Amino acid sequence: MSQPEIPIPGSPVVPTMYDDNKEIQFSCHQGIGCWNACCANIDISLTPYDIVRLKKWLGISSTEFLREYTVPYEMEKDGIAGVKFRPIENGTACRFMRPEGCAVYEDRPTACRYYPVALLSMRKQDEYTDTQSYAIVQEAHCKGHEVNRRLTIADYRREQGVEEYDELARGWRQLVLKKKSTGPAIGTPSLKSRQLFFMACYDIDTFRDFVDSAAFGKLFKLGAEEKAMLMADDVELLQFAFRFLRQVLFGEKSIELDEAAARQRLANWQARQAEIEAEAAKQREEYERKMLEEGISEEDAGLGCEPAGGSCARD
Ligand code: SF4
Ligand code: SF4
Repeated sequence: MSQPEIPIPGSPVVPTMYDDNKEIQFSCHQGIGCWNACCANIDISLTPYDIVRLKKWLGISSTEFLREYTVPYEMEKDGIAGVKFRPIENGTACRFMRPEGCAVYEDRPTACRYYPVALLSMRKQDEYTDTQSYAIVQEAHCKGHEVNRRLTIADYRREQGVEEYDELARGWRQLVLKKKSTGPAIGTPSLKSRQLFFMACYDIDTFRDFVDSAAFGKLFKLGAEEKAMLMADDVELLQFAFRFLRQVLFGEKSIELDEAAARQRLANWQARQAEIEAEAAKQREEYERKMLEEGISEEDAGLGCEPAGGSCARD
């Protein structure tokens, strides 16, 4: 079972986009000839809400869930991290596949619910909200397409319970789309912002500790009631995580800052930058002095010119 996000040549996704009025012919039920074939060879990306549901079902923390049941991947080069299901040791099957079906059926991930439909989310650069359309995944082994049961994609989504899943992962999808649509003009996100994105989206229990920390409390103003609610409720905390990321990654202010603490933080950062620049200048001077002592010209030592793409100061 795979859930490609965009149709590519050779992909089982039929490269036509539909709205949710599109009628499909499909039925999956125990006893069908291909029972479990889709779960025997998986490539399943997880949404943050999938993780919240699955770690609760397993009764473990998000940190343990990520370590034991997932592998990270890059949604785009040097960009944002995603998380996929880790299959069984030395195999391709899902770890929750049982002869009678899915062991986590009530809490199965979004991609499993959607199959054989693929969700395609899009966002225009000048729009904040995303629009959804759908494609059909037609894999040769899946006999569900041969069963004579017709229903619209809207009905299929309702039947499979994806509406709640889509709604509670929407903030994450918007962040991903926003990053993709801003593209390389914004540049590669720093390691720190990528780590922050990973923690806030996927490791909700670590994010809870972060929100509960003194450093967070110093910078962000949270009312006692709001904080208690966030500490007690994973789903609320997840929605807060998306707001937090919109603020720190894209400057969309929605969480009140302690202005004095924010100013102090900026001053600390500027002081640290000045220290780094002073240290770099010192090292450069030392290097120049050493080269001159050894009789190596500035040009040979690569000191006179700007790096590639810049102009030579001595031209
Ligand atoms: S979670 Fe369930 S439905 Fe999804 S791949 Fe695993 S066994 Fe199949
Ligand atoms: S009908 Fe398709 S989705 Fe259902 S078990 Fe078979 S391969 Fe999987």
